[in-house]
Amino acid sequence: MKALLLVDIQNDFVPGGALAVHQGDEIIPIINEIIHYPFDLVIATKDWHPHDHGSFATNHGKKPGEHIKLAGLDQILWPVHCVQGTLGSEFAHGWDLTCIDKVFYKGTDPLIDSYSTFFDNGHRKSTGLEIYLRDKEIKDLVVAGLATDYCVKYSVMDALQLGFRPFVMADACRGVNLKPEDSEEALFLMRKGGAVILSVKDLKDLMEEEKKGKQREI
Ligand SMILES: [Zn+2]
Repeated sequence: MKALLLVDIQNDFVPGGALAVHQGDEIIPIINEIIHYPFDLVIATKDWHPHDHGSFATNHGKKPGEHIKLAGLDQILWPVHCVQGTLGSEFAHGWDLTCIDKVFYKGTDPLIDSYSTFFDNGHRKSTGLEIYLRDKEIKDLVVAGLATDYCVKYSVMDALQLGFRPFVMADACRGVNLKPEDSEEALFLMRKGGAVILSVKDLKDLMEEEKKGKQREI
């Protein structure tokens, strides 16, 4: 069973948003195409912070990019973003939402951040995604979204650890790139950990091959 996991494609992460990922909007037409491929499930996630979230620089009288300790962990501080119920937290404009089966929310605890779509950064609380995927007998997880070097990377690394088979669609992700090489490094680490990195075209070819295989079986 195969699921599509669409990570944090929200207004605040695309150009014009509070924590815009460079060219983050370029993935939207790509997502609108792949969302119609024959996945068993389409899952989307939202970064979903309360206004007093500990990752916001202003809540500490500091500037974005500075580091603090949050819940005993190193925490880079971000501009205020994806506050629950605001326009910035909504799915990015132009995205076809009709195929989404389920939405998971992360970063809801003000005392700890959550890059991964599975757990908070301390692996203390689950978002419920793991149990949901196991209930639905999903093994393969095709991942796309924002941002390559944070929420995509951490989600894929957790997926590997949990025994899922992640496929990362590199051209349907974009990175924050605080350091210019961050996205490349993230893709390298995900591949090294066992994830398959592929393009949207590779995915299409793969799914067509599978379809033919199934038809042959019948
Ligand atoms: Zn966040």
